[in-house]
Amino acid sequence: MSHFLVHSAATLLLQLVAQGQLDMEGALTARDRVGIQDFVLLDETTEAAFLSNLKKRFSKDLIYTYIGTLLVSVNPYKELDIYNKKQMDIYMGVNFFELPPHIYALADNAYHTMLTEFNNHFILISGESGAGKTEASKKILQYYAVSCPSTTLLNTVRDKMLMSNPVLEAFGNAKTLKNDNSSRFGKYMDIQFDGQGDAVGGHILNYLLEKSRVVHQNHGERNFHIFYQLVEGGSDDLLHQLGLERGCQHYNYLTQGQCAIVQSINDKNDWKTVKNALQIINFDETHLFEVIASVLHLGNVRFDSDSKGHALLNNNTELHWLLGVDAHRLQEGLTFRKIEAKKDQVLSPFTTDHAIYARDALAKAIYGQTFTWLVNRINESMENKDPSRKTVIGLLDIYGFEVFYVNSFEQFCINYCNEKLQQLFIELTLKSEQEEYEAEGIEWEPVQFFNNKIICDLIEEKHRGIISLLDEECLRPGDATDLTFLERLEEKMGNHPHFVTHKLADKMTRKTLERGDFRLLHYAGEVTYCVVGFLDKNNDLLYRNIKDVSLQLILCQIKMCFRLYCKYRRRPETVVTQFKSSLQKLTEILMAKEAWYIRCLKSNESKQSGQFDEALIRHQVKYLGLMEHLRVRRAGFAYRRKYDVFLKRYKPLCPATWPHWRGVAADGVEVLVQHLGYLPDEYKMGRTKIFIRHPRTLFATEDAYEK
Ligand code: ATP
Ligand code: MG
Repeated sequence: MSHFLVHSAATLLLQLVAQGQLDMEGALTARDRVGIQDFVLLDETTEAAFLSNLKKRFSKDLIYTYIGTLLVSVNPYKELDIYNKKQMDIYMGVNFFELPPHIYALADNAYHTMLTEFNNHFILISGESGAGKTEASKKILQYYAVSCPSTTLLNTVRDKMLMSNPVLEAFGNAKTLKNDNSSRFGKYMDIQFDGQGDAVGGHILNYLLEKSRVVHQNHGERNFHIFYQLVEGGSDDLLHQLGLERGCQHYNYLTQGQCAIVQSINDKNDWKTVKNALQIINFDETHLFEVIASVLHLGNVRFDSDSKGHALLNNNTELHWLLGVDAHRLQEGLTFRKIEAKKDQVLSPFTTDHAIYARDALAKAIYGQTFTWLVNRINESMENKDPSRKTVIGLLDIYGFEVFYVNSFEQFCINYCNEKLQQLFIELTLKSEQEEYEAEGIEWEPVQFFNNKIICDLIEEKHRGIISLLDEECLRPGDATDLTFLERLEEKMGNHPHFVTHKLADKMTRKTLERGDFRLLHYAGEVTYCVVGFLDKNNDLLYRNIKDVSLQLILCQIKMCFRLYCKYRRRPETVVTQFKSSLQKLTEILMAKEAWYIRCLKSNESKQSGQFDEALIRHQVKYLGLMEHLRVRRAGFAYRRKYDVFLKRYKPLCPATWPHWRGVAADGVEVLVQHLGYLPDEYKMGRTKIFIRHPRTLFATEDAYEK
């Protein structure tokens, strides 16, 4: 017992040192130098105090700070020497608050909780585009890959998991105005562990790839990295074999953004990394690059028009590069609409605009299929072959909230997704936390917070939300256009507090809206969407227009190359409806697990190291609900455990509960914590759980248990 006291006193001292309240001499407070490492310990919970602490730490390259067990991270835009094996070893198996905040600490804590409690976890990484989500998820994966126990056999699974990153980034990330390596797809990855804590497998779910980028990039943006890597880094032999010329300037699909060459990106080196990664995942890459090359060739296909204004292929020579697709059929597919009516086939010639549209639709479809195939192959390679019991840690890294000068269907989907994740966060933290205190009969001063459910409903509510209206317009035969969609929105949403159209714009906000725009007041800020293209993109016409046979035949042929199942359902769901249900499924997956949060903040808009843009950060702190989270945390209890779980684990620490407690678990826990010397203020007894105010109390108990 005395040992326990000495030990916990030492632990407490260590915590104080780590928390910056004492330095090693024990006299002077260090919080003035490095700030407080857990916001819960701040003197006051004002936004000003919050920001000043964040800024102080940022200026010392301390980019991580806790709010309880939530990790706040500020993008430093420079390499810090804190991600290496040595640091990993320091954090391995050490209690959360005993060391300076680190992403490794969070990863480690989730891992050890999983091992001791045999349950599933997920780490939700959120923040706007460029805030550092993808970097964070990579650091966590590296931590598990390097520091978990290993056997030689399993090393291969691990390597594959690690190598899936560069591959998926090459095919799914691109330079945008916000981020030179922006994720243009959503990714949820399960890392599966066996009972010993060995990483034994992985599985990726991917969400809505931004396919439109394949054929169009805004000024200052690029296509997906892989295209540039191939034409810049591919060997002469390979390029020759694929009929490609070296250099991106030769390809229409690569030059629209007029920034093919970017200083921060080294396509040649990245090509080597990707090639190497593909080898480790055991890919037959030739095929893959044939497909990628054929997309580039397609982009260079041009059309002339004949005297009647019908499209003619202007240059046949490139067609034979297209995956062995019969040139005649391709030509027909790109210049005619073939309609099957009962047994007859009617050929109706395209105008050049239609032909370009068909060409682009085909390119997008091919790329989209390739991406799906790639994810499937990666999943096969990481599959856990061992059927024995496993637990998982899920990593969620999805495209962040984004606002551009012009925002389209893609931003609408991305921002909708972010609303859903914010809603999940609210459900799991602010709301459920407070509901739990109520349910457990714990006295509690409610904290007010903004619940973005109202915006989620505006977007997704059945029959009434924006998605429903969009689908209705997409399915309505006849004269539906983007503008009729907008009219419907104005009609139905006109009075909604988070919806503004140009008719109402001047009244609601001082900013005017163009005709053809609507504005949503998202939880993270206002976004003006231009409706042009909404119907088309939502229809994803190639798939949905079942009558248009020729392009589908081509796609089937390509699919066969990939050994993908090739069948078109009648009227598949629209893009946004598919997305909605995949997000619904994701929410269900996540709700069944224990949650950990990383909130990434973007330090400045110009990607500069050392710049702490206070206004920008204040805005993010506000919309991410960090102040509310802090208030709930401070007023509340860091830990809670069901009485039986708590008793089962710690009963050896007290003679009265060891080896068996013969009464109600709650009483046993009371006896146990009295014996351990818990002070009345440190814990509360709920209906089914014990609530512990500070982590250090539980850690002391845990330390005693370890002894
Ligand atoms: P998006 O939503 O657009 O995908 P993101 O949140 O995933 O954005 P990242 O790609 O992770 O953003 O980060 C953007 C860039 O910021 C990185 O390419 C890197 O240069 C820098 N960065 C982010 N986190 C860190 C870090 N911990 N250390 C150093 N640099 C970082
Ligand atoms: Mg990203």
